[in-house]
Amino acid sequence: MIDSHCHLDNPQFDPDREDVIDRGLAAGVERMVVIGTGDGPPDLEAGIRLADRHEPIYATVGIHPHDASKATPETYKHLAELLKHPKVIALGEIGLDYHYDHSPREVQRDVFLQQMMIAGEAGKPIVIHTREAWEDTLALLETYWRPRGLSGIMHCFSGNPDQAALCVDLGFYLSFGGIITFPKSVEIQDAARRAPADRILIETDAPYLAPVPHRGKRNEPAFMVETARRLGEVRGVTPDDIASATTRNFDRLCGAAGGPC
Ligand SMILES: [Zn+2]
Ligand SMILES: [Zn+2]
Repeated sequence: MIDSHCHLDNPQFDPDREDVIDRGLAAGVERMVVIGTGDGPPDLEAGIRLADRHEPIYATVGIHPHDASKATPETYKHLAELLKHPKVIALGEIGLDYHYDHSPREVQRDVFLQQMMIAGEAGKPIVIHTREAWEDTLALLETYWRPRGLSGIMHCFSGNPDQAALCVDLGFYLSFGGIITFPKSVEIQDAARRAPADRILIETDAPYLAPVPHRGKRNEPAFMVETARRLGEVRGVTPDDIASATTRNFDRLCGAAGGPC
């Protein structure tokens, strides 16, 4: 399996990061994508630092919507440079978060757009974070991303089946995380059931959103076994089927972008 989205740079892993990676590998998570947003600009290398040290780790670079206010012209220049790193597979996570509003919405939209331009120029996929902002996210993707003909990942997909269909039509992969194991996630499960087999991915978003039965605890890649099991149940296939489909999909997404995976 491939954990398409985790934050192993998070200080919560400082005491036992190596063990966490080893437990993930032992559980069958053979590659992990560490999202490089960290604490925001000027540091853009939170993911790269880990990818440089660990063979199974790949990285992204990007400015999280929470940190949009910290972006400067220098940040964009640096981002474009880092995108060329051999283990950077995508630009992300980028998008809009109207739940927390840590940065003004106008600034979030501008920084999202600027980063779509950078990824588009580089021919790299983007990783989308969207929370309580579906309408604006889809509208911006429609206008600025669709014409590029490039792909991307809807990270921790938490929309309904209609939103899932729109994302698939935009060329995106739907990445399902621990939320799918929560009993109340009926709509997300419905979206997961109907999603095309060639467009699904799985992730942990560790240390956040641990799946049942670890809910509420620190999440880690090894727990993705539970997410794969639940996704399999929902779709009426085995966890092995989920593992092979999501791995194949990840490799296709990376390969299409000339990526390293
Ligand atoms: Zn996110
Ligand atoms: Zn994340």
